[in-house]
Amino acid sequence: MPPVVDADQQPAFRCTHCPRLLHANELHRYACRICEDRATEHVQKLPNLYTQLEAALTPGRSGGNMGRAVTGRAAPLPVALQPLNLRGPGGIVSMLLGIEQRWRIQLDWEQLPQRGGYEPSLAGTVVVIAANLSWACDKYEGVADDLKLIGSLFAQATSAVTGEHDVRVPIGACPTKNEETGAVCGERLKVSPWAPLIRCGGCGTQWARDEWLRLGAAMRGLPMPAVAA
Ligand SMILES: [Zn+2]
Ligand SMILES: [Zn+2]
Repeated sequence: MPPVVDADQQPAFRCTHCPRLLHANELHRYACRICEDRATEHVQKLPNLYTQLEAALTPGRSGGNMGRAVTGRAAPLPVALQPLNLRGPGGIVSMLLGIEQRWRIQLDWEQLPQRGGYEPSLAGTVVVIAANLSWACDKYEGVADDLKLIGSLFAQATSAVTGEHDVRVPIGACPTKNEETGAVCGERLKVSPWAPLIRCGGCGTQWARDEWLRLGAAMRGLPMPAVAA
């Protein structure tokens, strides 16, 4: 990479997975540390979600522990199809093994080991992926696709387990200024009505619920809502 003049960062110095400008100490990386940390968190939660998806498959049983039944909103079949797809062939386990396989080729490692059935395969691949996410974000050119896949699997599994669909509404562009460049983040922020907090996918700034309600109101030029008790 050519030397970088600070305060003059080009699009080439953005994370390949989110629009965030890379920090001076991240410029050699393909993906930023926020994306790395989030993917690590998501991938490590997948085995537990995978187990919970089994309950979501059984008709008449609540899919999750959020206490929000989906009855009356949709026919039972489409609701159960998503957990089935995520647990079956081509689902979470296959997708993660695909990531591990691609990384093994890049790292010149031996091929995927035989770990047994779905659960041991999932447990094994999650350990390998979590342990090598730092390498991938650092050195693997195609990491953005794999980060996207991990995020998507996590979102789908969470939605299938909790019965919550992605009903996030846009609240406006992120106003956070980059400390180094002074550039405004500008990532489009979306929020679920259930979310206790939002995190900007661009710069990683987080807002608690009362803060994002005020933020949304401020962006629309509305009076600030009272802070929730
Ligand atoms: Zn990023
Ligand atoms: Zn932002």
